[in-house]
Amino acid sequence: MTGLPRYEDVVDAASRIEGVAHRTPVLRSRLIDEQLGLQAVFKCENLQRMGAFKFRGAYNALSRFSPAQRAAGVVAYSSGNHAQAVALSARLLGIPATIVMPHDAPDAKVAATRGYGGRVVTYDRYTEDREEIGRALAEKDGLTLIPPYDHPHVIAGQGTAARELFEDEGPLDALFVPLGGGGLLSGTALSAGALAPGCRLYGVEPEAGDDGRRSLAEGRIVHIDTPQTIADGAQTQHLGDLTFGILQRTAPTVVTASDDELIDAMRTFATYLKLVVEPTGCLGLAALRRHAEELRGRRVGVLVSGGNIDMARYAALLGGG
Ligand SMILES: *Cc1c(COP(=O)(O)O)cnc(C)c1O
Repeated sequence: MTGLPRYEDVVDAASRIEGVAHRTPVLRSRLIDEQLGLQAVFKCENLQRMGAFKFRGAYNALSRFSPAQRAAGVVAYSSGNHAQAVALSARLLGIPATIVMPHDAPDAKVAATRGYGGRVVTYDRYTEDREEIGRALAEKDGLTLIPPYDHPHVIAGQGTAARELFEDEGPLDALFVPLGGGGLLSGTALSAGALAPGCRLYGVEPEAGDDGRRSLAEGRIVHIDTPQTIADGAQTQHLGDLTFGILQRTAPTVVTASDDELIDAMRTFATYLKLVVEPTGCLGLAALRRHAEELRGRRVGVLVSGGNIDMARYAALLGGG
């Protein structure tokens, strides 16, 4: 196994994405603070380029390609934000991109990926294995495969969001971070370890799939079936070797949020902060609500990871009650 990325790699990633990725704003709401009895600061990666933090990791990884890798191109498999992050990064760097997506991926996502100039290759998610297809394409055409979370440059890039937050806000008492495959949380742990060692990290999974919590408790990577949840950015089946390695060492607290709590948080973001946040991006606030009592009076960060959601679906979720 390759060595785990370290905080120095996050610093390096920050210099590579500077001037390309947005330094996203940190927002707060007096009304939310009053409701929760603490001081909350929201790092708004829903306002990042392409609408999610994933641009940070993808751009960092692609910016390190050798001339030969650049000429041959990149391949990624994803139906979500990683696809758009790789497609946009590739376009900015002049690298051809191939994205492997399920044939029944939402039209909006396929269109967005094509809009960034990516070539889309579809597969049947019930009968075919996307990792195999990605690997086969990589081999046949000499493409470099960039996975969505288990890659040192991806992890280091994702860690730059929390680094900016600590730079802007100082060492917080706690920080809530959505958890899927663990790229964002493990990168965050690297930044917290260096800049805010006393900050308590909470990784937040959908209630339907708590493989991350179980993995840390059992000391091995637990695999689960694709969880049924509206948090589609965290529908991962397992942590990666690198992300698990970092999380084992840094030992964040892993908690969960239900779909109803996510919808509640979506409504709070829209009402008080005027922010459109996708369900996965609501994991942090949803969990903070549950844990507000133990954090009374503290300064607490919430990583708002993304804002990509179809408007009809957004309206339908918020219209329900
Ligand atoms: C990918 C994603 C996550 C989960 O990130 P991991 O690095 O897989 O843990 C959370 N929120 C959004 C919006 C995402 O796109």
